[in-house]
Amino acid sequence: MAVLPPGVRAGQFEAAIRAFGDAVGREWVFTSEEDLGPYRDSFSTVWNTGEERRASAAVAPDTVEQVQAIVRIAGRHRIPLFPISTGKNFGYGGPAPNLHGSVIVDLKRMNRVLEVDEERHFALVEAGVSYFDLYRHIQERGLKVWLDCPDPGWGSPVGNSLERGVGYTNPFYRDHFGASCGMEVVLANGEVMRTGMGALPGARTWQEYRYGFGPDPAGLFAQGNFGIVTKMGFRLMPRPEHYRTGLITVPKRRDFIQLVKTVNYLSDSFLIGEPVYASPLAALMGDADFRATITKPGGPGDAEMDRYASEHDLPSWQVELQFYGPEKTCLANWEYASERLLGEIPGARAVAGESLAVPLNAHQLDNVEAPYRTSIRRHGAQGVPSLGIWKIVSENGHVGFFPIIPRTGEAVFEAQHVLCDALREFDLRPFFTAVTAPLHWHTFAFQLVFAPQVYRNDPARNAVTHRAMQRVVQVAAEHGWGDYRAATVYQDAVADTYSFNDHALRRFHETLKDAADPEGILAPGRGGIWPRRLRRRS
Ligand SMILES: Cc1cc2nc3c(=O)[nH]c(=O)nc-3n(C[C@H](O)[C@H](O)[C@H](O)COP(=O)(O)OP(=O)(O)OC[C@H]3O[C@@H](n4cnc5c(N)ncnc54)[C@H](O)[C@@H]3O)c2cc1C
Repeated sequence: MAVLPPGVRAGQFEAAIRAFGDAVGREWVFTSEEDLGPYRDSFSTVWNTGEERRASAAVAPDTVEQVQAIVRIAGRHRIPLFPISTGKNFGYGGPAPNLHGSVIVDLKRMNRVLEVDEERHFALVEAGVSYFDLYRHIQERGLKVWLDCPDPGWGSPVGNSLERGVGYTNPFYRDHFGASCGMEVVLANGEVMRTGMGALPGARTWQEYRYGFGPDPAGLFAQGNFGIVTKMGFRLMPRPEHYRTGLITVPKRRDFIQLVKTVNYLSDSFLIGEPVYASPLAALMGDADFRATITKPGGPGDAEMDRYASEHDLPSWQVELQFYGPEKTCLANWEYASERLLGEIPGARAVAGESLAVPLNAHQLDNVEAPYRTSIRRHGAQGVPSLGIWKIVSENGHVGFFPIIPRTGEAVFEAQHVLCDALREFDLRPFFTAVTAPLHWHTFAFQLVFAPQVYRNDPARNAVTHRAMQRVVQVAAEHGWGDYRAATVYQDAVADTYSFNDHALRRFHETLKDAADPEGILAPGRGGIWPRRLRRRS
């Protein structure tokens, strides 16, 4: 049965569809079941259930003027729109909208790289430019700049950064929204606005000074629903001359606390790229006693864990370090990091890794030498977009809950057992155990990963995952750990947890929403922000 936006009659919808066709060309408006198939969230936990949110149509403009026309038509007919750039947001809702029946505004055709400056290190791109497109543009011209890409490389700098996505190189660049600089946005009334220096006609620093003058509204467009971003600038990293890796291991469970403190110092001093933590004890997962120990209620004692480490001659923790820059400074920074950590942590060991001139050749990109072992991250660490990450995707994908936690060893230990206990009642493999390591994707915070699999043909299993997702969001929030980004079906639950002072933040967002988008047509529900006419809360 055809999907319609809420409160819109069939005749009114058809009139809007005809008007969209007049604006962009009939061949760029999609309404058939077959054409709308790719706009479903193929990673959905609620696939084919009443909770799945599906599009009523999709429209693919090629110019900013066409985006303006679409927004004006939608305003006249009260049609909710859901903009996507490349629409690959899998794990977080894919290309599907927050509100069932929305019309997707698919910006993939707007895929022009407008400028790349290799001396001032920035790019300006249209929304539909993918990481592959931008990488290819840079390579074909031999420009000495790197982009920090997320996985998989078919996504877009605009879509990914509007989700506050993350990558794998140096701290500043890994935060993709943080490294954005200047945007052009079509607002709900169809007007075009530019942020930062872009608001000053004739300014030549749009991609160099993000603030301009006065309040900077750019943040409203990330995980928000205040406009359709048509162009966006990004800071690029100067291509480093050299790349070096090294591994630090520490013997005891509690050594992790000092390890994290010092690695924080190295990271915040911009001496290292992404530090990759792991516990070598995870190799013992096959042992039933060990599994019982690392998942025991309240978490195991330090002595128990240290006994496993010493009996199996394994370090308790390790961190893989990465260095970018001139060859000499890479070596100096590795020597400094390893000498300092060995001096601070009795029994710590340092193993120098690879030392490679940049750009790496194809063999070096694909073959990671010991001790740096995580080969799927190598492309990302070199600013090379890739689809290699699909190797780790099983079943029909996953959904993600990634709580932000403090960058301390103590916080990691606490989150391990609190979240392990919270999920005990669900029939899922243990995600949080005493050997779960944090991710240091964000510049100044850790995250843990809960990414349970989704099974297209097993709704009962998906229902368990669905309940577990809701539970873990709650329990984490009770401990002060909030999700950084959520699939569309969980965005209300996550937004609900950011409730300081009776939801003052959400009330502020919704006041702005009602003023800037009175018909409530732009991505209703995105970020948990609903326009007045669709608000269901009391
Ligand atoms: C195996 C796997 C690994 C992954 N690894 C990573 C990773 O390392 N890092 C990471 O960040 N993500 C990761 N992801 C998640 C996801 O694939 C990427 O974030 C991807 O880049 C998002 O898709 P996109 O760029 O096509 O964004 P889109 O789907 O186009 O956009 C994302 C959302 O932003 C909004 N939006 C998009 N464009 C606009 C616009 N022009 N105006 C207004 N709003 C807009 C929409 O709400 C949209 O839903 C991973 C996913 C998988 C499956």
